[in-house]
Amino acid sequence: MEKMLDVLFHETLKDIYYAERRILKSLTRLARGAQSPDLQAAFRTHREETQGQIERLQQVFEIIGKRPQGKTCEAIDGILAEGEEMLETFTGQPALDAGLVSSAQAVEHYEITRYGTLKAWAEALGLPEAAALLDQTLQEEIRTDQSMSRLAEKSLNSIAMAAE
Ligand code: FE
Ligand code: ZN
Ligand code: FE
Ligand code: FE
Repeated sequence: MEKMLDVLFHETLKDIYYAERRILKSLTRLARGAQSPDLQAAFRTHREETQGQIERLQQVFEIIGKRPQGKTCEAIDGILAEGEEMLETFTGQPALDAGLVSSAQAVEHYEITRYGTLKAWAEALGLPEAAALLDQTLQEEIRTDQSMSRLAEKSLNSIAMAAE
């Protein structure tokens, strides 16, 4: 019989699997939309990492003997819709990049909470390989969040600040 934590783990895995595939598409649009070459490069780098993250999730599904399957996540749909709105509202304006970073960081924070939980549950369920895969992605999300902060603090915020 399945333990309730197995069910929670599987459901949350489906949530982040759906989210990562939506994020992958969104990162393509963000990389195209960003003005600063540094920010474009950061989005492209994270897009490549995200492809690897999707593959890691497929490995985790395999570890628990389930086929990879997503489940609509309203939270990520809402966060990504705000990012799209940022693109539409601020395209062509100096404040755009600071806005895009703020949207991207909302995505990273959502992912950090999901991967933190999934890693802890994998450990509790005695799935050390799954925990290690989830931790690799967690560390990538944390690094992405930090590099977004550095870009914003180095230049993007002051560009937005100088614009009227
Ligand atoms: Fe991710
Ligand atoms: Zn979600
Ligand atoms: Fe959700
Ligand atoms: Fe991410």
